[in-house]
Amino acid sequence: MTIRHDVVIAGGGGAGLRAAIAIAEARPDLSIATISKVYPMRSHTVSAEGGAAAVKLPADSLDEHAHDTISGGDWLCDQDAVEAFVAEAPEELLRLEHWGCPWSREPDGQVAVRAFGGMRQRRTWFAADKTGFHLLHTLFQTSLKYPSIVRYDEWFITRVLVDDGRVGGVVAIELMSGRIETITAGAVIVCTGGCGRVYPFTTNANTSTGDGMALAFRAGAPLKDMEFVQYHPTGLPFTGILISEAARAEGGWLVNRDGYRYLQDYNLGRPAPGPVLRSMELGPRDRLSQAFVKEVEKGRAIDTPWGPVVHLDLRHLGEEVIEARLPFVRELCLDYEHIDPVRELIPVRPVVHYMMGGVDTDLHGATPLDGLYAAGETACVSINGANRLGSNSLPELLVFGARAGAAVAEAAEGRRAPGPAVLAQGQDERRHLERDLLQRDRGRERIAAVREEMQQTVEQGAGIYRSGDSLTKAADKLHELQERCGSVAIDDHSRVFNTELTAALELSFMLDVAQSVVRCAWLRQESRGAHQRIDFPTRDDERYLAHSLIHLAEDGEPEVRYRPVTITRWPPAERVYGR
Ligand SMILES: Cc1cc2nc3c(=O)[nH]c(=O)nc-3n(C[C@H](O)[C@H](O)[C@H](O)COP(=O)(O)OP(=O)(O)OC[C@H]3O[C@@H](n4cnc5c(N)ncnc54)[C@H](O)[C@@H]3O)c2cc1C
Repeated sequence: MTIRHDVVIAGGGGAGLRAAIAIAEARPDLSIATISKVYPMRSHTVSAEGGAAAVKLPADSLDEHAHDTISGGDWLCDQDAVEAFVAEAPEELLRLEHWGCPWSREPDGQVAVRAFGGMRQRRTWFAADKTGFHLLHTLFQTSLKYPSIVRYDEWFITRVLVDDGRVGGVVAIELMSGRIETITAGAVIVCTGGCGRVYPFTTNANTSTGDGMALAFRAGAPLKDMEFVQYHPTGLPFTGILISEAARAEGGWLVNRDGYRYLQDYNLGRPAPGPVLRSMELGPRDRLSQAFVKEVEKGRAIDTPWGPVVHLDLRHLGEEVIEARLPFVRELCLDYEHIDPVRELIPVRPVVHYMMGGVDTDLHGATPLDGLYAAGETACVSINGANRLGSNSLPELLVFGARAGAAVAEAAEGRRAPGPAVLAQGQDERRHLERDLLQRDRGRERIAAVREEMQQTVEQGAGIYRSGDSLTKAADKLHELQERCGSVAIDDHSRVFNTELTAALELSFMLDVAQSVVRCAWLRQESRGAHQRIDFPTRDDERYLAHSLIHLAEDGEPEVRYRPVTITRWPPAERVYGR
């Protein structure tokens, strides 16, 4: 039996829910399935802390937000996408306010804005330092209003079905029962979030395993700019828990083992009283993470059992400010490090945080594959280029989630009977899951071992700094791991919440993502934003002012092409901070 809907939305996080609401508002006649492997409120969006960027007039301007985003992205952003983004971000945040999002306020009642890395103006709206929690709650409760949105909570999508170049639905497992269903639809919007778990040390939730990127890739859609992986400069050692950029926006300092604010040595400006926009601690994340590596090389970091760290100093902010503006930061430090930032230094180190690359889409979320759309962190529109600015991701998922929803609502032709090829593929996938995985007798490999080797390989080969050599080694190792992944043991043959099965599926998705990252990083012989090649240390606009697009060629092998970046009003220039 198959389940039929007009639209399937893969993912119940910020992007997925925003897209669902946009369709439900525009076309109440369409039936929308929102499928999520975790309960929607547990999606990674819930853990966003610092805030969401949108211009607040009259002090700020759309052009300034656009310019900061484009230079922050080292000129790899498509400027038409950035212009649409900055123009629509304020109305999206205001809409959330009307739906109930409790934005923090200034004493006069206006929406409060804070400074954020790489931004020349204060434009980051926030709800204390629990912005993602409030944003996701607001979207979730708003989505409940629409009877046309049917939720499939704790259902895991394993495949996107394609008939004659057109998407026809998905196959998903209901985790509670192990039931495997084909769910047909005229359009699928992939909103499955990031892929930080490909790396060993990340701020991302356990669920951020790049499923949607691999699903779209396997269905025939290209992935764009996969070599650009963002490290956030301030994660807690061992756990990788994020200490939000908000801590530096409120005036926190980064100091090395000598108590010295080392960022002044890295072309990021000089210390000044109070936070200085776009300089020192409020420089962009790629530069700050790279400066950390250099401090370690100079022997100026602090050694810990979990590797070298530097210190984040908030003590001078005082208890009142920390309690009012950074309560969650204090809570995390107390719970996970047993230190109180009011009195003590916080140990921090860079940690994988965000994927700039993703499923290639146009400005309306459409991929080159008919009927397949993507939005949120899974997608690459691209507004983030080679390095995302903090607080641009939440407004991005709102703006482009809404745009993808609007495009689907407009294109939907109503319910169509699924073609025989779609149903046959559904059967095929069911057989594969049942026979090859659930009933697999013995496997030689352990999931955890292959996963750990993959994570170490990607970190060593495609970390903050890469080289042709490190990437070649990583590519060889990943090839071997891909083979070994085919024979991992799945000892649990039961159907109820079989997390061993989903872990095996996630591992194979992550390996696809890891291979794309490494291959695109190997081919890009330049340094730009978060992609730093020690063998090609400078930016090369002649050859690489272009997006990489990796897709499966007819022979089943990955192939990489390039597409020029769209430049509208901001010709490529040097990235300058702190001057
Ligand atoms: C700790 C942290 C703090 C952050 N802070 C900020 C911030 O302050 N400001 C900012 O702008 N950005 C921030 N970001 C980035 C931003 O939060 C994310 O990029 C964004 O929330 C991603 O939203 P999404 O809707 O694309 O995906 P998610 O919220 O990750 O949702 C993904 C959804 O897909 C579902 N899914 C995945 N795979 C499958 C599958 N196989 N089958 C079924 N369902 C599936 C999941 O269940 C989930 O519902 C932060 C990120 C982190 C990790």
